[in-house]
Amino acid sequence: MHLILAVIVVLALTAAVLLASPTRTCARCKGERVTRHRLTKRLIGCPRCKGTGRHYRRGATLVHRYRWTIRPELRDMRDTRKDDN
Ligand SMILES: [Zn+2]
Repeated sequence: MHLILAVIVVLALTAAVLLASPTRTCARCKGERVTRHRLTKRLIGCPRCKGTGRHYRRGATLVHRYRWTIRPELRDMRDTRKDDN
């Protein structure tokens, strides 16, 4: 019984962290946005984070997709803000 409670607490904490900060510094380029090609050793744009220096934590897309499903007005707000730019 305590195990189930612990699992629930861990899941809740994970979801809270993912909602608060869904991205983390890219582990491959350490946020430098460029990395050395494995064979040629030339600097290339980091393929893992696609040159952004950050990438989504594991499960972050899942959590946020779920949040957008239950809160469609949030997605609408995001879309209108994008149109303003
Ligand atoms: Zn990277």
